[in-house]
Amino acid sequence: MFNYSAPADLLLGRVILVTGAGDGIGKACALSCAAHGATVVLLGRTLSKLEAVYDEIEAAGHPQPAICPLNLETAVEKDYNDLADQLFDTFGKLDGLVHNAAQLGPRTLIDNVKNEAWLELMQVNVNAPFFLSKAMFPLLRAAPDASVVFLSSTVGRKARAYWGPYAVTKFAIEGLMQVMADEQDGTSEIRVNSVNPGATRTAMRKAAYPAEEPEKNPVPADIMPVFLYLLGPDSKHINGQALDARG
Ligand code: NDP
Repeated sequence: MFNYSAPADLLLGRVILVTGAGDGIGKACALSCAAHGATVVLLGRTLSKLEAVYDEIEAAGHPQPAICPLNLETAVEKDYNDLADQLFDTFGKLDGLVHNAAQLGPRTLIDNVKNEAWLELMQVNVNAPFFLSKAMFPLLRAAPDASVVFLSSTVGRKARAYWGPYAVTKFAIEGLMQVMADEQDGTSEIRVNSVNPGATRTAMRKAAYPAEEPEKNPVPADIMPVFLYLLGPDSKHINGQALDARG
């Protein structure tokens, strides 16, 4: 695993938005950020799942989170701008933005990928992180040292047959990360990096590898050190890096 041991108050006073916060790696990230002192904005498409995470954070006595139900497939510019306005009114800044939500889509020969499926994956996995980043930039600039984290994949760094639009979207995410990172010119303190979680025991992994024994992969909570590192002040000098949760 990525070698980082986070102090309990690492994220105290920070506001961190996590997409896909209702399940899998996003849920673990939201819980872990809250446990380290952050106020977490839980964005996702299934309200009941977001509410369950909210309740878990509240019951543990961590800072009260906020819930933002949003389907990234259908969200339009106004939704992102409204969210930015709400966050400005409530918090005045955003210290962390974790682009975690993604869909797997069809895994088949490129010849067989339906155009609609291609467009859906592009919308959720690439366009939405772009729209959301754009809307959040003023809030990120209002924070003293904001961190943007994109979720990548092994097939987003070296493509593999049959991984179709999913692999292509993860390459695009690495590209967006690099462009955004390179545009940080020192006038504001925003860093932008990507994380490849590696095989992790979630619903997406199960869908991709139905015959695999789930126990052979770490649970999402096990891969949190790299996220805590990137979202906390110890990574202030890290920008434009493609990191691995497994170290
Ligand atoms: P899961 O499928 O377990 O969780 C994905 C989360 O994203 C869910 O909460 C889901 O919401 C949300 N989401 C999906 N589509 C939308 C949408 N249209 N609008 C809003 N929210 C949406 O995935 P993982 O936790 O496994 O994956 C998290 C990230 O890590 C992804 O970017 C994935 O590509 C990446 N990754 C994962 C690996 C693994 O082994 N697990 C390996 C490599 C990369 P809902 O719960 O409502 O479905």
